[in-house]
Amino acid sequence: MSNANPEDRLRDATRVVRAGLPAASQGAPFLPGPVFAGMYHFSGDPVTSPFTYGRFHNPTWTHYEEALAELEGGPVVAFASGMAALAALFGTALSAGDTLVMPADGYYTGRLLAKGHFASAGIQIREVLTAAPDAGAQLRGAKLLLLETPSNPGLDVCDIAALVRAAREQGVLVAVDNTTPTVLGQRPLALGADYSLASDTKALSGHADLLLGHVACRDAEADQKLRTWRTQMGSIPGPMEVWLAHRSLASLDVRLERMCANALAIARLLADRREVLRVRYPGLPIDSAHAVARRQMSRFGPVVSFELASQAHAERFFRHSKLVSEATSFGSVRTTAERRARWVNDPCPPGFIRLSAGCEDPADLLADLSQTLDAVSRL
Ligand code: PLP
Repeated sequence: MSNANPEDRLRDATRVVRAGLPAASQGAPFLPGPVFAGMYHFSGDPVTSPFTYGRFHNPTWTHYEEALAELEGGPVVAFASGMAALAALFGTALSAGDTLVMPADGYYTGRLLAKGHFASAGIQIREVLTAAPDAGAQLRGAKLLLLETPSNPGLDVCDIAALVRAAREQGVLVAVDNTTPTVLGQRPLALGADYSLASDTKALSGHADLLLGHVACRDAEADQKLRTWRTQMGSIPGPMEVWLAHRSLASLDVRLERMCANALAIARLLADRREVLRVRYPGLPIDSAHAVARRQMSRFGPVVSFELASQAHAERFFRHSKLVSEATSFGSVRTTAERRARWVNDPCPPGFIRLSAGCEDPADLLADLSQTLDAVSRL
């Protein structure tokens, strides 16, 4: 007789609408409202109360962390932003003299943080391209390997399970920045990684109305170190943001279904247009990363990247599109895009655009993109 927990067999769409909710209680709401508390009633010595001071704990965080822990497959600590989550990973997994191997083509602020603050604190930084076939060979003497797959903004992919095997042989820890696919698109801990982290600012919360991040890990020791880091650095999330993200989590499956279908349809359209020099989307069967992506991702995410001939062509794209809003960030219910080279620290070709497919009707989006590219071709 199997003693597997029946909850484990539920599909994502079912789990996500209930994840982290407290047990049913007569007259109580399904998801209790955000708790705004700098301090809690707290008397006596020794300290036995579960809630004392607002920087240490908050029941709204606990519900959200339990929800994500259920989906990630390991304990989760929520942070004020994706960058706060990344800083907590570096700060707790690395000490002076250690080597961090990280993507040369990943989110650029992560690289700036590593090469600035953490390099000054005595950490050696080794950068490797996400698609580098011999990334395993770069692990010698390292303490932590950070992967970002698909990478932002180039959308290259690496084989998480193969790199975990190579890292294990050399005693190297592996963390995956899972922001682009979210935990419903890819499960790094199940692929063997030691940490899975994300900017929940993006598709996980999905409404472009908050900043948040989290780190999932494998064991109580790493979890405790991350909590202590958060308490001492004060990189705590606001209860309103956490509550909004938890509420939004319930619709993550349906949002992703539409967004990923729109992203694939857009990638197909772009691949057929002569104005477009290059398209990357891991879900596109002709994409060089598709075979690896298919092995480890259940959804390919909302982000598509493509290249037009020049900055002028990209700017014309934004002038003529009626449904693609020009904005940085990604993962929102509204389709957004930006010419990435406007950020000086993110080296991209001048006509390179990162687009994030929203939840609009696919026919409207495709019609808008077709007329926009017609206008681009008239330049
Ligand atoms: N990781 C990736 C892949 C990102 O794209 C971002 C932000 O764009 C971050 C981390 C940082 O997240 P946040 O802006 O929530 O601090």
